[in-house]
Amino acid sequence: MPTRQSDDIKLSALENAMRQFDEAAEVLNVDKMMLEILKQPRRAVIVKLPILMDNGDFQVFTGYRVQHNIARGPAKGGIRFHQDVNLDEVSALAAWMTWKCAVVGIPFGGGKGGIACDPSKLSKSELERLTRRYTADLTDVIGPEIDVPAPDVNTDSQTMAWIMDTFSMHARHTVTSVVTGKPIELGGSLGRREATGRGVLFAVREACQYKNIELKGARCVVQGFGNVGSVTADLLYRDGARIIAVCDVHGGLYNPEGIDIFGLLEYVAKNRKVVGFEGAQPITHDEILKLECEVLVPAALENVITSKNADDIKAVIVAEGANGPTTTNADKILQSRGIMVIPDILCNSGGVTVSYFEWVQDRMGYFWTEEEVNKRLEIILVKAFNDVLKVSLEYNCNMRIAAFLLAIKRVLEVTMLRGVYA
Ligand code: NAD
Repeated sequence: MPTRQSDDIKLSALENAMRQFDEAAEVLNVDKMMLEILKQPRRAVIVKLPILMDNGDFQVFTGYRVQHNIARGPAKGGIRFHQDVNLDEVSALAAWMTWKCAVVGIPFGGGKGGIACDPSKLSKSELERLTRRYTADLTDVIGPEIDVPAPDVNTDSQTMAWIMDTFSMHARHTVTSVVTGKPIELGGSLGRREATGRGVLFAVREACQYKNIELKGARCVVQGFGNVGSVTADLLYRDGARIIAVCDVHGGLYNPEGIDIFGLLEYVAKNRKVVGFEGAQPITHDEILKLECEVLVPAALENVITSKNADDIKAVIVAEGANGPTTTNADKILQSRGIMVIPDILCNSGGVTVSYFEWVQDRMGYFWTEEEVNKRLEIILVKAFNDVLKVSLEYNCNMRIAAFLLAIKRVLEVTMLRGVYA
């Protein structure tokens, strides 16, 4: 049995990311100094943002941007607006971006940013001022060749439009490729909004094939019904899967016969939450994770599958739509119980892959059809899944360690080729 450390419930995202790195690094026979270089974030910026509130008062917010590694290209990663944002969390998310970009083989390093705030308590104009001030303070730190932000939790295409405009005002010309996830009219890519969920679908399809599971009729549970969760549920449903449960921050829905996802999407568009939708019974946040199903998709926040509940997970496949939903201790428990985890750095890499396509299109000034975007995404995701599976079979390790092994090797290779400017 794996060793139990109940403290994993309190593990910070950064400690979790470091543990994952260490476990994979142990398998690789490489210079410890080189591994140390790869492990540490190369730059972390903290900005204090005085914002004029609608009531005439000033409030000071704290913003972060971390660039974990830029050996393979500009840093790339989302910006999160959430009350729990802190330097640890942003650093972990930036590190995961480095490994994610390397797993799918796109020419970016890893970055992440965020502002500690509760966006539900801010008006649209306060959010705009906050986003613009944050961008203005980071104009020397971000840029198409330096660091390219994107949406994450509680930020969207409107946030990216404000960042693009603010950066362009300072540059004195329009720079669309400074961010991805923009509105289509401003240089966004077709298919970007759905890309993370579509990538989850491609990864789930491959995993089902490997596990001899027919996706048509397969029972799926989706935790989180935002950008990633709702699109994943929609696409799985369109592929014939039975979505037996979903939840968001307010609560959950359960119907063993399958939820009408098209109806639910319409309901959520009007009501901003899943709770209250007819044709399903309520279910708690704890219960939803323990349902018997073929595919469980955690698509909300970090550290939801821990040593406390990993024994109760009854899914065959856990497809990590969210970043860092499973702690390293939980990983071991799931592995010992034969549950296949498609790790976040592979499973939710569809978003950054299409972000890469957006950056390429902006720089070319030539835009692709949605069909072309989706096809190219499928080619990359299917290859990445099978690359990781191959490493996992070769090293007899789980898919997470395999994904880290592959990614670390790729980043290490370019670091050695470039040499260390010491
Ligand atoms: P989002 O803000 O659009 O949605 C988050 C969803 O999770 C919402 O439905 C929210 O109600 C729900 N949620 C929040 N706390 C919850 C809780 N305690 N229990 C249950 N549900 C809860 O965010 P998103 O963009 O969908 O991101 C979700 C996750 O996916 C994050 O970990 C993010 O880093 C990751 N991710 C996002 C993208 C992307 O393209 N948006 C790409 C890769 C990874």
